[in-house]
Amino acid sequence: MNAKPIGPIPADFAEQAVLHVAGQGAADWAAAGTPLYLYDMAAVSARIARFRAAMPKRVALHYAIKANPFPPLIAAIAQQVDGIDVASAGEMDKALAAMPAAAISFAGPGKRDAELEAAIRAGVTLNLESEGEADRALAIGARLGVAPRLAVRVNPDFELRGSGMKMGGRASPFGIDAARVPGLVRRLIAAGADWRGFHIYAGSQALSAEAVIETQAATIGLAARLAEEAGALPPLVNLGGGFGIPYFPGDVPLDVKAVGSALAGELDRLDTHYAIELGRWLVGEAGIYLARVVDRKESQGETFLVVDGGLNHHLAATGNFGTVVRRNYPVAVAHRMQDPVEEVVSVVGPLCTPLDRLADRVALPRAEVGDLIAIFASGAYGASASPQAFLGHPPVREVLAGV
Ligand SMILES: *Cc1c(COP(=O)(O)O)cnc(C)c1O
Repeated sequence: MNAKPIGPIPADFAEQAVLHVAGQGAADWAAAGTPLYLYDMAAVSARIARFRAAMPKRVALHYAIKANPFPPLIAAIAQQVDGIDVASAGEMDKALAAMPAAAISFAGPGKRDAELEAAIRAGVTLNLESEGEADRALAIGARLGVAPRLAVRVNPDFELRGSGMKMGGRASPFGIDAARVPGLVRRLIAAGADWRGFHIYAGSQALSAEAVIETQAATIGLAARLAEEAGALPPLVNLGGGFGIPYFPGDVPLDVKAVGSALAGELDRLDTHYAIELGRWLVGEAGIYLARVVDRKESQGETFLVVDGGLNHHLAATGNFGTVVRRNYPVAVAHRMQDPVEEVVSVVGPLCTPLDRLADRVALPRAEVGDLIAIFASGAYGASASPQAFLGHPPVREVLAGV
């Protein structure tokens, strides 16, 4: 039977014979129970160092915790980045446990009054998503007698595309249409708010440096135009992020050095501070999902490895989290990383649905009942982005290694 290709195993782990993280074998990490997500802090720190080396000094690095809100990971990352971006009051509480309020910003549509009030009381910056939200935040600030820290999220008239950029505005629940922003900024300042600047986020999971470079240049151009029309210099321009990671066959890593050198030539168009907010690029390749083979079975000539967790823990690897075509994540038998392939198998989870397929007809060395299967590139949009209650299996364990 023909095997389907798998995505690239991150270089942090690809050369190992037996999978180790922070010097300890996968079997030891798994001894306290499977399935688990294992996050390698050294791999995260290496990404942060790569960002710092590639980017101009003037650009701050924020962690967007919706990619992975595991508290020990947030705490460790907070030591190495300049800010945290959150998208709910729940995430804000996690961020406040790790970072001063002044370094936290809160985006996302539909913030309830209680969320706005909690942010304003704490001194967290609100990235305003609508004029109605601006009015409510100003009213809450007036009632509390504090000047709320307010940034304006702009709905840009361009978009970051995985392969190149699509220009042209579109309706969006996120941000305020660019044409309406200067008037709102003037109104915020007149009302006595502590205006923090602009947040402009144009997209996600880009592997093309060219697309990111074009988007960043357009973003700075837009921020400069809006600042001029508003008659006020933004204290901070959050350029968004969108740095992608390789998941699938043929994916190549984003050239962050090229992004950094192009960005260096654009920054002086505006006298301000800049930030880039990243989620998956910081943590995605650092995470491994480890599940144990419970059963091997044959059906009509196909071999299935049934493991003890699936889409309930890792929706994205099953192709059900925002992908159009199902493709295979990088996968390996944890103690036979370099062994020759012996068979074509599908790795499926324990849920009673055909959607629960972690790897579809992949060529692997033979794995027996009790062996560990590793799904790589699993550090972002895993545990917190999967329907853990579905079918009532136990929640997945999460472990941060190397701290
Ligand atoms: C989701 C999100 C991010 C993080 O995206 P990644 O693709 O994980 O880097 C950053 N900023 C905003 C506003 C987001 O909504």
